[in-house]
Amino acid sequence: MKEKSLVLIKPDGVQRALVGEIIGRFERCGLKIIGLKVVKATQEIAGEHYANDEKWLLSVGEKAIEAAKKRGDEVTETAMEIGQRVRNQLMEYIAMSPVIAICIEGHNAVAKIRKLVGGTNPQDAEPGTIRGDYSIDSFKMADQSGRPIQNLIHASGEVAEAEREIKIWFKDEELFDWERADEALIYRTV
Ligand code: GDP
Ligand code: MG
Repeated sequence: MKEKSLVLIKPDGVQRALVGEIIGRFERCGLKIIGLKVVKATQEIAGEHYANDEKWLLSVGEKAIEAAKKRGDEVTETAMEIGQRVRNQLMEYIAMSPVIAICIEGHNAVAKIRKLVGGTNPQDAEPGTIRGDYSIDSFKMADQSGRPIQNLIHASGEVAEAEREIKIWFKDEELFDWERADEALIYRTV
């Protein structure tokens, strides 16, 4: 099924001049760019994007606690405290300098993009993924430096998340309904 997803190339990806490399990976597998722009996020956009949502805050904290336990490190914060701390860091970070906002469409786009992007922690992200190939950051190093993990990309985790996020970054008229030349090959019906 065709889906839309939101990808942000975060400040580390833009500042490291990896925009072309990253966009090329989405294009070459058959995904279609239907919206793209350079945006300097306001705190309002940052706060909407990294919403104060209990489920997401807990999931961020739980992922971090699991990683710390695996390393054998002691955890002093609750999952919620970690989630809130990371959210505050992310809101500051995402607004620090311009990001590239991209709306991408294609067959199972949300899950496919997450696979191309790789795991949250670049130290564990598989080689071949964007985070695995272009970042050496880790939960531990980021926490010690009081900043979010520099993993280059935000990509929507679920279809509902994508629908919410696309509206934050794009107006309807900034999204384009067009056909790639190769779409007739993959999407044809018999
Ligand atoms: P994603 O969907 O893979 O990007 O991961 P999440 O939605 O769980 O977290 C959002 C972003 O917060 C990540 O991409 C990281 O930049 C950052 N982040 C997540 N967990 C941590 C953490 O434990 N410590 C720090 N410093 N940053 C984190
Ligand atoms: Mg996420």
